[in-house]
Amino acid sequence: MAEIRETVILGSGCAGLTAAIYTARAGLKPLVLEGHEPGGQLSITTLVENFPGWPDGIQGPELIDNMKKQAQRFGATFELAHLNTVEVGAHPMRLHSSAGEIHARTLIVASGASARWLGLPSEQALIGHGVSSCATCDGFFFRGKEIAVVGGGDSAMEEALFLTRFATKVTVLHRREHFRASKIMLERAIAHPNIELRTNAVVEEVLGVEDKEVKGVRLRDVVNGETSNLAVGGLFLGIGHVPNAKMFEGQIDLDEEGYIKTANNVFTTRDGQVVLGVFACGDVQDRRYRQAVTAAGSGCMAALEVEKFLEEHGR
Ligand code: NAP
Repeated sequence: MAEIRETVILGSGCAGLTAAIYTARAGLKPLVLEGHEPGGQLSITTLVENFPGWPDGIQGPELIDNMKKQAQRFGATFELAHLNTVEVGAHPMRLHSSAGEIHARTLIVASGASARWLGLPSEQALIGHGVSSCATCDGFFFRGKEIAVVGGGDSAMEEALFLTRFATKVTVLHRREHFRASKIMLERAIAHPNIELRTNAVVEEVLGVEDKEVKGVRLRDVVNGETSNLAVGGLFLGIGHVPNAKMFEGQIDLDEEGYIKTANNVFTTRDGQVVLGVFACGDVQDRRYRQAVTAAGSGCMAALEVEKFLEEHGR
């Protein structure tokens, strides 16, 4: 029989690591399953300028590394594994992970969200051959090329600005007239001499499938319906994220976009009944704020709820 854990944390981004710091410091010896993308979104970002306490900013991977060390100092353990299926209704819960079966009295779901793709067959065929969703991971390979970035939010602006380090020109393609990005990010992109912003432009196809290398994109102007080709050597997607909660389908309440429904950001419900022992935090339950600091805050709240739950159940 597998050892019963007081708490298991799914995900090792900002939310999961904060939950790990708090539950470890409370003596609960949390096990963190690091998931498919260890460190979460911050581990593939660059400078984080708005995390309180870092007046000059801090690199995302460094911030994550610091949080992990802090959790380990209090006794959190980490496993490079992901969750396949879970039996939430069992007591203790049964988690079927890539590292084997784990039994847990409580579960903190901090599995975050993963990059969204356009879903075009040509885009999917060229992932890794000029199509990417991570400028900080892959930007280096596009030195001296012209690049397009899809999206109108902060991610797209951040990717575009970062890619100007390598690309000769970056064209941001946004599907409507108005941008979703914050004023400061948009202004930086507008002011950059090597960035061009194109609105009302939808990518219909990525060109270059036969050559196994991105050659350009076919665009449709949503105002006049005209199509045109833009020659680029790379295409980056900055169109947001989808929550990683599929494994909970049918077990806990998800909203229409697949986010875990929570009350007070800290616990999950099913058919109006609280599911005992499952708590969610970070981007997997947050479609509105999605900031590093809000993820950390909700991770703290989930951890405190876990402590309270275990106490109430005589642990
Ligand atoms: P987002 O704000 O949801 O923006 C996604 C963008 O992609 C939107 O402009 C959206 O268009 C577009 N889009 C979505 N699906 C599309 C599709 N199928 N085809 C074409 N375009 C599509 O996501 P985000 O930019 O990843 O930002 C998420 C959160 O993280 C935000 O709160 C943001 O402030 C934060 N963030 C902050 C920073 C920073 O401050 N440095 C950096 C990155 C992210 P519509 O506008 O038409 O919906």
